[in-house]
Amino acid sequence: MKGRKMPKRKAQYAIATLASHTCLQILKGAKDEGFKTLAITPAKSVPFYKTFPFIDEIITVDSYTDFPRIEEQLISENAIIIPHGSFVAYLGFEENKNMKTLYFGNKDVLDWEADRKRQRQWMIQANINVPRQFEKAQDIDAPVIVKSYGAAGGKNYFFAKNKEEFGQRIKTFKEKEYVIQEYIIGVPLFIHYFYSPLTEKLEIMSIDRRYETNVDSLGRIPSQNQEGLGIEPSFVVVGNSPLVLRESLLPEAYSMGQRVVDTSQKIISPKGLFGPFCIETIITHAQEFFVVEISCRIVAGTNIFMEGSPYSQLLYNEPMSTGRRIAREIKLAIKQERLGEILD
Ligand code: AMP
Ligand code: AMP
Repeated sequence: MKGRKMPKRKAQYAIATLASHTCLQILKGAKDEGFKTLAITPAKSVPFYKTFPFIDEIITVDSYTDFPRIEEQLISENAIIIPHGSFVAYLGFEENKNMKTLYFGNKDVLDWEADRKRQRQWMIQANINVPRQFEKAQDIDAPVIVKSYGAAGGKNYFFAKNKEEFGQRIKTFKEKEYVIQEYIIGVPLFIHYFYSPLTEKLEIMSIDRRYETNVDSLGRIPSQNQEGLGIEPSFVVVGNSPLVLRESLLPEAYSMGQRVVDTSQKIISPKGLFGPFCIETIITHAQEFFVVEISCRIVAGTNIFMEGSPYSQLLYNEPMSTGRRIAREIKLAIKQERLGEILD
């Protein structure tokens, strides 16, 4: 943003993103809100993205990591980048922070999100339940999940039912940095929020549960038949399914989101966290939420709700995906001449 002169009309901006992850949802939403749309894609994906009439322009790159090479063009088109899961995965953390193109969101949040220790500190300060963590192997007194630091999508995690099993498995574990967390038995539930710094209002947009292989399929084989097979649970995400929450649990789900936002404004920067974010929870038999992670951007599970969810329908009475909600925020900011508050 830094001192850049901002045009005053919506027609002078384009909404842009990398062609992967939630690109279709983001650009469809942007078009529905009247924006020009732009997808950045490697040549092999062009035929696919060309089939969608709501994508106005496609910029081809050799690979996603070529992104910096096309920045001048993006800047000249007043493109506003909407970050999603592919950005940090393909461009890396530093490149994300150094991006000069207009960027929807607060980049300071990246420092907190990328660091598991800081993430945990943020949640605790927001009075959110987090699973216990064991610093030393001899302290383990419950089943645990061992999570490598940089892993994406649950890859390279392992489960150990006690201290002894942990001791065995850790010998062959290749990752250097990891956390040992109490394994919470319950239903994984991912809550998609949107916080508007313009209206100062938080919304629950939708909820999904991830489908992970093989942990979500182990129950298909009775335990007596599994005996001796040596099957280990793994947590690799392969898809998402929709879920509506017991209504009596919704007020607490909402309050957790609000506490996360309020705390971010104290500890991250005055702007804190805004736009779409997701807290990954597990709900136990006692109907207690445990938060295992926070994603500070649009998450892939929102793709189920391209036409909106039961919750966004109640809030908007029209199809409102998270992608479209982002575009609507940008539209409002242009109208109120407050773009500087939502772009980095
Ligand atoms: P891709 O969609 O392949 O560009 O993935 C970009 C990043 O998002 C990777 O780190 C993936 O692990 C992650 N990702 C993609 N789809 C999902 C999903 N359905 N749930 C959770 N993470 C995902
Ligand atoms: P994460 O990388 O933290 O999003 O975790 C990926 C998946 O691992 C989650 O969707 C859960 O299925 C599982 N998981 C992570 N942490 C825990 C935990 N403390 N207890 C039980 N399952 C967990």
